[in-house]
Amino acid sequence: MRRYSAFAIAREALRYHQGWERAWRAPEPKSSYDVIIIGGGGHGLATAYYLGRNFGITNIAIIEKGWLGGGNTGRNTTIIRSNYLQDPSAAIYEKSRSLYETLSQDLNYNVMFSPRGVMMLAQTHHEVRGYQRTAHANALQGVATEFISPQRVKELCPILNIDGPRYPVLGALWQARGGTARHDAVAWGYARACSDMGMDILQQCEVTAVRRENGQVTGVDTTRGSINCKKLGIVVAGHSGQVAEMAGFRLPVESLALQALVSEPIKPCMDVVVMANTVHGYMSQSDKGEMVIGGGTDGFNNYTQRGSFHHIEETLRALVETFPMISRLKMLRQWGGIVDMTGDRSPIISRTPLGNCFINCGWGTGGFKAIPGSGWAMAELIANGTPGALAAEFGMDRFRQGRFIDESVAAGVAH
Ligand SMILES: Cc1cc2nc3c(=O)[nH]c(=O)nc-3n(C[C@H](O)[C@H](O)[C@H](O)COP(=O)(O)OP(=O)(O)OC[C@H]3O[C@@H](n4cnc5c(N)ncnc54)[C@H](O)[C@@H]3O)c2cc1C
Repeated sequence: MRRYSAFAIAREALRYHQGWERAWRAPEPKSSYDVIIIGGGGHGLATAYYLGRNFGITNIAIIEKGWLGGGNTGRNTTIIRSNYLQDPSAAIYEKSRSLYETLSQDLNYNVMFSPRGVMMLAQTHHEVRGYQRTAHANALQGVATEFISPQRVKELCPILNIDGPRYPVLGALWQARGGTARHDAVAWGYARACSDMGMDILQQCEVTAVRRENGQVTGVDTTRGSINCKKLGIVVAGHSGQVAEMAGFRLPVESLALQALVSEPIKPCMDVVVMANTVHGYMSQSDKGEMVIGGGTDGFNNYTQRGSFHHIEETLRALVETFPMISRLKMLRQWGGIVDMTGDRSPIISRTPLGNCFINCGWGTGGFKAIPGSGWAMAELIANGTPGALAAEFGMDRFRQGRFIDESVAAGVAH
């Protein structure tokens, strides 16, 4: 595959852009692969990429029922940070954040990583104590983060009202190298690199059954025929419960819709990401100028990948005291994705009751930031059959053993 470069752009500009190749091939399924990954979102594609790059395994099919990144990967608000409280979380999210730093160069694809800084506002005394504790934990974990004063918050984000009557800003947990990236580009960049290594990306191909024999997976049935495999990775986020059921086991995961919305585009007014977890809303500004706004999950389990009016009202009502300017903004569009929530709000990267079947799920409302690190850890698990240091604590047996990695209690939010 030809590399993207400034020289390539200049060359193509001179010949009316006729020479660009397809970013990835659209092959017919083969009868058999060494590894099948179900799910062509960021985590599935990153898993395949690191299987190829780190372990030389390239006879892989990535099977996607819709289009690449059409699940949560293309529906999220792209916040990237790693300042989690618990050691296993901080380790995998920081690995991921550090991979994002050079992902564009590694993939030769501009994923528009923008380390503009992420602040999590402390608007109650409880949050002040909680975030100070996280800042100390992060110092021990080697994650660069700090607790900053309300004045510094105002300097970094002048449109914030720090003197609200109900929720004044008392400080914030600030991660200067957190930020955002372009979500589709992350999926497309990994896909292009996987295809370049000879892997098959099968879109519009739904897995309808997992074939098993003597406690092992032998292959999958799909809407494009049956395909055999030696190992299977299930990486389907909100649909994990359904695919696990096809494989004959149950997961401690619930599926809920998480919604987000964007405003009309306005001039640049905010160059950091702000999360207000007490009122439960967060906001950043996209390169197009739209204010990207998100809030909490729906209050009931469902599989509806769409927005609803109550969410616009709830989220904007929550944020308007802290961001008075949004009261005068028109909202342009909204959408929803199905997130997979575990009881401790931490992911599952795990072996399963089937010997050659592995699962990666449970990233819930906060897995975009984890894509590179999760792919790295899942590839290690599939290649070796046992988890490496990054995934060691995220096995699903922790729920049976009561060994939770409780980030929801730690942060009040897991985005
Ligand atoms: C509104 C919203 C905002 C969010 N904001 C953030 C944020 O700011 N920061 C952050 O870090 N995270 C955020 N997230 C969470 C993040 O988007 C997800 O954790 C992450 O994208 C999950 O990636 P994935 O690759 O596991 O799943 P997905 O991208 O959903 O990919 C799974 C794929 O599996 C496919 N699939 C399912 N069943 C089958 C089948 N039977 N056969 C074949 N294919 C199948 C689906 O079509 C899908 O494409 C947000 C999520 C939403 C919905």
